[in-house]
Amino acid sequence: MGATKICHTCNKERPLSAYYTYVKTGKLWARCNKCHYRINTKRLRAKWVKENPERASRNNTNAVRAWIDRGTPGVYLVTCKEGLYVGASGSIQARTAQHTSMSNNGIQVHKNVTVLSWRILEEIEDPEERRLREIYWIHKLRPNLNIKHNPDVKEKRNRKK
Ligand SMILES: [Zn+2]
Repeated sequence: MGATKICHTCNKERPLSAYYTYVKTGKLWARCNKCHYRINTKRLRAKWVKENPERASRNNTNAVRAWIDRGTPGVYLVTCKEGLYVGASGSIQARTAQHTSMSNNGIQVHKNVTVLSWRILEEIEDPEERRLREIYWIHKLRPNLNIKHNPDVKEKRNRKK
């Protein structure tokens, strides 16, 4: 068995691959990815669903598929084997196709990242609002695969200036 680490939240011993890395420091989160999902992503998502019932009701799988077909503008969340990524696009379909390339057995986002799933967080027509909401979601979810707007990597960028 490879190296393991005990999650500060669930106290389970899990392999290092079960922890996301901070982009800034390269260190592993104290909390495992399952706990991260349960506590951050899922809770925030549930809160948003509660506050936006009409939009949320459209966010089922069929709706997402229809959005993809129509290239609906919005903010989306990609769950990868390596962590989370938030993106926004005037056309989600076009953007997804842009950083998606077929590999042997699946889809990739960016270069060597394996996509597990992706979902639309919000459907937003206005480009400026969409940009602000993308930043909002990045600040809330702190997806480790985002460099831009991510509070976890801000320090590094400021240091460079
Ligand atoms: Zn855990």
